[in-house]
Amino acid sequence: MLCDVSEGQNLRLVFLDIDTQIDFMLPGGKLYLEESRHIFGNLHRLLEYALLNRILILQTADTHTENDPEFETFGFPAHCVAGSAGWKRVPETTLVPDLVITNSDAAWRPPLGQERVVLIEKPSFSIASNPNALGLIESLRPCHFVAFGVATEGCVRKSILSLRSMQFEVSVVIDAVAHGRIKSGEQALEEFTSLGVRPLITDDICSGALLAETRLSGALRR
Ligand SMILES: [Zn+2]
Repeated sequence: MLCDVSEGQNLRLVFLDIDTQIDFMLPGGKLYLEESRHIFGNLHRLLEYALLNRILILQTADTHTENDPEFETFGFPAHCVAGSAGWKRVPETTLVPDLVITNSDAAWRPPLGQERVVLIEKPSFSIASNPNALGLIESLRPCHFVAFGVATEGCVRKSILSLRSMQFEVSVVIDAVAHGRIKSGEQALEEFTSLGVRPLITDDICSGALLAETRLSGALRR
């Protein structure tokens, strides 16, 4: 049984699909995470469920320049260079965004209108590393984020930590995240629990239990 999320509040669910890009998820990708091979089916199920139920989807995309200083700072090979083949999402999570929030374009201002899929480019680990996204995130209150993607101990962790520090409720879909290293991924999951992040599995969501629990059926149809 799911524990309480909303305590009766009219919370809005927001799905957060983190960095499910070719460079991380397909063999030959610049920072390929082998564990990601297990989650393709669940990613697809989650996004399909969100679309069918008119749940807002935020998709982050790790987005670098060709000689991004982050590569040297963290010892990463060049990856997710804007517009490159590896920057694109895998087919299971490729959607046509209604809105794109880039690292540099501060032209957009909240609130959202009828957008259902928002692509947020980010220059570093956390969704909050794109300052143009912060206004959007704040405008979504009150909401409950359902996070999944890659890598558990990397961008998933940093994004969840940012959202928790902003006092948002967050769940993590443990069978729709992939670890870079098993041990550090598992440590990150333990850390999430200690921070009040609820672990869910894809079936919890796609059975409709989470949506029913958060009493969102009315609030979702804006
Ligand atoms: Zn990166």
